[in-house]
Amino acid sequence: MEERIQKLLCERFGRDIDHCTKEEIFEVLMLITKEETSKIQRNFGKKKLYYISAEFLIGKLLSNNLINLGLYEEVKQALAVHGRKLEEMEEMEMEPSLGNGGLGRLAACFLDSIATLGLFGDGIGLNYHFGLFRQRFRDHKQKEVKNPWMRAENWTNRTPVSFTVPFKDFSIQSVMYDLDVPGYEAGCNRLHLFDADTVDESIVAGDSIDFDKHNIQKNLTLFLYPDDSDDAGRMLRIYQQYFMVSNAAQLILKECVDQGYDLHKLDEHVVIQINDTHPSMVIPELIRLLTDRGFSMDEAIDLVSRTCAYTNHTILAEALETWPTSYLEQVVPHLMPVIQELDRRVRKKYTDESTYIIDDKNHVHMAHMDIHYGFSVNGVAALHTEILKNTELSNFYKIYPDKFNNKTNGITFRRWLVSCNRELSAYIEKLIGDGFKKEAKELKKLLDFKDDKEVLKTLGRIKKKKKEEFRDYLYETQGVLTDENSIFDVQVKRLHEYKRQQMNALYAIYKYQEIKKGHKPKTPITMIFGAKAAPAYTTAKDIIHLILCLSQLIEDDPEVRPYLRVLMIENYNVTKASKIIPAADVSEQISLASKEASGTSNMKFMLNGAVTLGTEDGANVEIEELVGEDNIYIFGKKPQEVIDLYADGSYSAKDIYEKDELIHELVDFIIGEELTKIGDKENLCRLHHELVSKDWFMTLLDTKEYICMKERVFQEYENQEEWNKKALVNIAKSGFFSSDRTIEQYNRDIWHL
Ligand SMILES: *Cc1c(COP(=O)(O)O)cnc(C)c1O
Repeated sequence: MEERIQKLLCERFGRDIDHCTKEEIFEVLMLITKEETSKIQRNFGKKKLYYISAEFLIGKLLSNNLINLGLYEEVKQALAVHGRKLEEMEEMEMEPSLGNGGLGRLAACFLDSIATLGLFGDGIGLNYHFGLFRQRFRDHKQKEVKNPWMRAENWTNRTPVSFTVPFKDFSIQSVMYDLDVPGYEAGCNRLHLFDADTVDESIVAGDSIDFDKHNIQKNLTLFLYPDDSDDAGRMLRIYQQYFMVSNAAQLILKECVDQGYDLHKLDEHVVIQINDTHPSMVIPELIRLLTDRGFSMDEAIDLVSRTCAYTNHTILAEALETWPTSYLEQVVPHLMPVIQELDRRVRKKYTDESTYIIDDKNHVHMAHMDIHYGFSVNGVAALHTEILKNTELSNFYKIYPDKFNNKTNGITFRRWLVSCNRELSAYIEKLIGDGFKKEAKELKKLLDFKDDKEVLKTLGRIKKKKKEEFRDYLYETQGVLTDENSIFDVQVKRLHEYKRQQMNALYAIYKYQEIKKGHKPKTPITMIFGAKAAPAYTTAKDIIHLILCLSQLIEDDPEVRPYLRVLMIENYNVTKASKIIPAADVSEQISLASKEASGTSNMKFMLNGAVTLGTEDGANVEIEELVGEDNIYIFGKKPQEVIDLYADGSYSAKDIYEKDELIHELVDFIIGEELTKIGDKENLCRLHHELVSKDWFMTLLDTKEYICMKERVFQEYENQEEWNKKALVNIAKSGFFSSDRTIEQYNRDIWHL
């Protein structure tokens, strides 16, 4: 390996390793990894899965791929001979910006597991040049700048595959880029990312995220989720979605024809998993292409309906996409006759208007199309699926009880343990062998050490080491100093009101005031946040502003700072997640019960020995069932109580604010002089007003219980042996949340590969 690295460095840069930069060494390591990946066997079978997703939040690939290829140690040692560190080269890699949050990360974990299990299945998505924006903090506010993550040498390979994608007034020629996905000690699959050569990065002004939204040829794949607060932005999303699925449909048919398959048996050779509603237009597009090939409408619809399966990720209205027919007419008029035909058939068969595809306001409901014309509808956690069946999609469940099924999310342990926490992974391996990397349930064997004081102490020592590493990382990247001897209380996830970062901020205010009164915590507390807000989501950005102002307030206060810190990680992404999660003591999963479909960071934290402080929501429910109530802290209103509150409209934030003295005081602190001195009065007042007059996601409902439970968490942390035992139980029981298990279930119940 050492020779090979040297040879390639000399070829490309004319220098040996001792004189090469980290960037140069990284590039050569990437090339070697790509070459090794290209040598492994591609998975194959008579039926193929196409996982279509607007997002693939894959994260950096070097160390992960080296681990999966079994080359990590070899490369590490080859570099060490020259006093170079593999970790330092990893830092040179840019994180691909192809996703936004949990949904995209799930797709990435699935690719790893599909490859590892030897299943024949590829991912299909778009190659966003600037991806999701990069987040900067300026004046205690989020500022969005473009994120140019692509380099001349990339993990992707340009292929000769290209399709013509027709729009109303023009068509665009696509290019397919491929990224190899090696499984762990297994075969390999691919992620196909479509792009167009006409796309022009220079139309983006400076480092902003502003560009001409009308120039589709030039802007099509520049950004993931372009701002949709105006018509042009919404239209651009339709262009992107159709571009993605038209390429997907054409690729699928081409591969079938190339294999010599009979397209009349499409469903025997192809299964399409539609990840949330963004790829839903693949249904009418496939039907259109089949009828163009002479299939009757009846047969085309029947075949496609037996090929497509839909995953629902949320019950929030904003994610159940609808598009006005007038928009679709302007972008993809050729799809409208098919969509209208699909709607006609629904109307003929069913009387319940709430299940129609096109409603009386002429909006096309993408999820309705997926449910009627897909053969499977799955939720992503047990509770979420029950809510879909009984509440949100109950009218569909009545029609199609057999289509509904649950597939509780999972995460790949190769990335979220082996790669991001090598110390813990190595220690577990020492205790129970390395079988857990492929058979996650083997982690159960750790329970044998539940009362072993040495083991518990070692777990504590590893946690401390990861905290020190995070301290150094945060200092290097943001110039912020943290105390590794404090409790790391962590909430990292997209910023959304339903996730209730604002409730966590109210706790910070509470604790600040307590310390001011002289009630100091035994062990200092570091509250760590990380979150991006959608650029047009005002309340979310105001919450970030509040957190950053609190952070500053405490930073400037020598009385409080030794006991409490509030920190916010800038530009939270997979790279940052893999640094903070191994260092966390407390995992904050405090969404309003019934609103978080599953969550996956809750699983990552558990696997790394953090203890959950959470509501009865999403997969938290399943975590609780696994670890038992002694090893998790659950608080707050139950899902059904919340659902009932919405149904009868009886929740009033104002009542709570006016009747409860403590809450009144905490909320008013937001507009008090301490914070308005630091921050922007307009933003803080707007947030205050939102909280006391609307509070759609019921922050104030659970705030008091939250504060009480959090106090208990910090108290119980003081008994380190007991705490480490909770950590051990969490790790031992996390096997269920391996995405290998999730994928086995998808395959057994839906894909049948
Ligand atoms: C896992 C992950 C998420 C999902 O977090 P949730 O807390 O489940 O919403 C979002 N972003 C990144 C970078 C992640 O790694």
